[in-house]
Amino acid sequence: MSEQITQVRALHASEKEQYHLLMENVKDYAIFLLDPGGRIASWNSGAERILGYREAEIVGQHFSCIFTSADIEKSEPAQELKRAAEGGRSDDERWHVRKDGSRLWSSGVVTALRDDAGKLRGFAKIMRDVTERKQTMEELAESSRRKDEFLAMLGHELRNPLSPILNAVFLIERDPHANAGQRQAAQMIERQTRKIVRLVDDLLDISRITRGKIQLRKECIRLRTVVNSAAESIRPLMDERKHTLSVTLPPESIWLDADPTRLEQVLTNLLSNAARYTEPGGRVWLTAEQAGTQALVRVRDTGIGIAAEMLPRIFEPFVQVERSIARTQGGLGIGLTVAQSLAQMHGGTIEAASAGIGKGSEFTVRLPFMPEAASSSPEAAAAMERRKGRSLRVLIAEDNVDAAETLATLLRLYGHEVSVVHSGTGVIPQMQACSPEVVLLDIGLPSLDGYEVARLVRRQQGFENVPLIAMTGYGQEADRQQSRQAGFDAHLVKPIDPDRLQDLLLRLGKS
Ligand code: ADP
Repeated sequence: MSEQITQVRALHASEKEQYHLLMENVKDYAIFLLDPGGRIASWNSGAERILGYREAEIVGQHFSCIFTSADIEKSEPAQELKRAAEGGRSDDERWHVRKDGSRLWSSGVVTALRDDAGKLRGFAKIMRDVTERKQTMEELAESSRRKDEFLAMLGHELRNPLSPILNAVFLIERDPHANAGQRQAAQMIERQTRKIVRLVDDLLDISRITRGKIQLRKECIRLRTVVNSAAESIRPLMDERKHTLSVTLPPESIWLDADPTRLEQVLTNLLSNAARYTEPGGRVWLTAEQAGTQALVRVRDTGIGIAAEMLPRIFEPFVQVERSIARTQGGLGIGLTVAQSLAQMHGGTIEAASAGIGKGSEFTVRLPFMPEAASSSPEAAAAMERRKGRSLRVLIAEDNVDAAETLATLLRLYGHEVSVVHSGTGVIPQMQACSPEVVLLDIGLPSLDGYEVARLVRRQQGFENVPLIAMTGYGQEADRQQSRQAGFDAHLVKPIDPDRLQDLLLRLGKS
């Protein structure tokens, strides 16, 4: 019997020793015990190393001494113990304070210690110093934020000069005195400029998508309108690559609750890939159909195809399949990432399929169909089938003389009566002189910016309802909201598509 007692004692002694060894050798973790009131009862060498107090000087003190004064004010130490007592444990990442007053970011857990009867006997806190990790994460977030800001600024700066270039090219192409060579050169400038516009837009979009900054402006639209418009905008690239593009649409209207600009962007991305990754003289099919509760749009090509192992990866940002012909077509490897994110924001998906290298590719976009939209179809259809050609009095306020003049000439080609001012202060006097039916206002006007002008116009008797269109390089939701608040009826992002502007003018100018 006495031998048994000796053995149990020895075991007990060795358990204590094991516990002691464990506590003292775990140097990467601060481990300490608290009594039920939060007073420190034991303190390991890891805690001494991490927090700077020796066991002898801290045992008996309340553990709030390692909290920041801000956390103490918010009763965080008590809250932490309360959470642990109620839920068994409490996990936290927070700033703590060392003996010398310096701070460390810690990741830790407080566990409630209960005896066999369930009585709370105290707490164990285990924590680790993860300051370096936090600093690295913050530096990464900061550099990513700076990169996004840089991309947004770069996009804006690149867009501004593209507007007048595209307007000027548009005019040369339609100049009856231009010879064939000049027209060809103009078409080439237009194609190349549109490529730059696409790259800039993709860059901006990817940075907005990663920051969750894209918001859809959904409306009830016919799929046919978006498909046709995407096919039209991609036509020059198809012609350049000598491809045959076949578009097949169902006889019935498919209605969607979607953002027409973003949906068109999804389709033009897929069409542009089909054109670029197909050897000249290939075939591209764009088909739309209704399948149950979904609208299906397929883009198929006879191009270079995609190897099976690459299919799941091509939607990832910056992923490009190694290739020879395609590199010359220049891309950033983000078009599909943007297209997929936009499709998902519409509640849809995009899938890629290919029978292998050299066997062509097929991309299928699935979007939720809107059966109930059929009831509103007469109005929606009427809106879509707007008639062109009404002459309006339009005022353009734009400080960039080239941009203003090219835009004015362009609108005159559509049959409008146009006047121009180059400063914000000139807007109201000019409105009084020519009583415009629509005003196009550049936001970045010097001295009195577009927002201020819009607010002044809205306060001016007789001009409360004149449609105002904002023109700017910034197209984020916050910018659109700001222009709405200033009293604008529409917000156009440069470079401005002339046909879109014409549609908008007719729509706003009719009331
Ligand atoms: P980018 O075209 O700018 O490289 P994307 O994100 O649009 O970037 O496409 C990613 C990659 O997927 C492309 O680099 C290409 O390798 C492949 N890909 C996309 N579309 C096709 C296609 N229609 N045929 C063959 N490969 C394609």
